[in-house]
Amino acid sequence: MSVVRIEHVHKQYQLGEQTITALHDITWSIDAGVFLAISGPSGSGKTTLLNLIGCIDKPSQGKIFINEEDVSEKSPNQLADLRARSIGFVFQTFNLLPVLSAAENVEFPLLRRPDLTAADRKKRVGYFLDIVGLGKFADHRPNQLSGGQRQRVAIARALAIKPSIVLADEPTANLDKANGREILRLMKQINRHLGTTFIFSTHDQKVIDHADRLVQMEDGRITAFGIRNEAAQSWNIAKARNSAPSITDESIAN
Ligand code: ADP
Ligand code: MG
Repeated sequence: MSVVRIEHVHKQYQLGEQTITALHDITWSIDAGVFLAISGPSGSGKTTLLNLIGCIDKPSQGKIFINEEDVSEKSPNQLADLRARSIGFVFQTFNLLPVLSAAENVEFPLLRRPDLTAADRKKRVGYFLDIVGLGKFADHRPNQLSGGQRQRVAIARALAIKPSIVLADEPTANLDKANGREILRLMKQINRHLGTTFIFSTHDQKVIDHADRLVQMEDGRITAFGIRNEAAQSWNIAKARNSAPSITDESIAN
């Protein structure tokens, strides 16, 4: 089953008089349970695509299905509800609330869930802080934690809602190599053990090589799809069809 299905999605931003096309006609479906990297240079549309999948923003044209549910027609309230139940977010700059402890940060998205009692929330917070190895740091504020630890709190926060998808926008970009590797290893373990689909963006080849699926982007288009051959430590890459900009597009862009 596909956890995300994208059909002919375009995204334009209006910047004063100027229209910027961030995504051109993306069609793609993502299988449940994958550990997928979106790679591409800065400005290629990675964040835009993650924001659309995360229902933080809407496509200008086209449809997106999350767990086979069409999200295009949903109201802002329905989308907030869908996010609160199905989608966890991890950001480059961690985005923890500085006045809250690690435990309170992890609990925060659960406060939108009236079906959970305070005792349920506490149990989940403890469980997921343990999973990311921070059980002993529950009472620490973000400024009492290292970058790697902060990103672990952010991962626990993303997982606490028991999402089907975790979206991570350049999750290792603000970490040193060793911590970046650890965060990737942790995300992959969770992917394997809990079956959570992970979709993360990066432009770092080392980070890409931890993934089992790959999508390459350039200028708002998907240019290639890849499947990792772990035994051979290499990628099988297939170029996306019709992805090269046509001469007409180029001349308009110039
Ligand atoms: P990436 O994450 O790969 O660096 P983005 O999705 O952030 O790429 O950006 C894709 C394109 O859309 C870029 O040209 C960027 O300048 C533009 N863009 C992104 N967000 C906005 C916005 N809110 N308003 C206007 N242009 C934007
Ligand atoms: Mg980005």
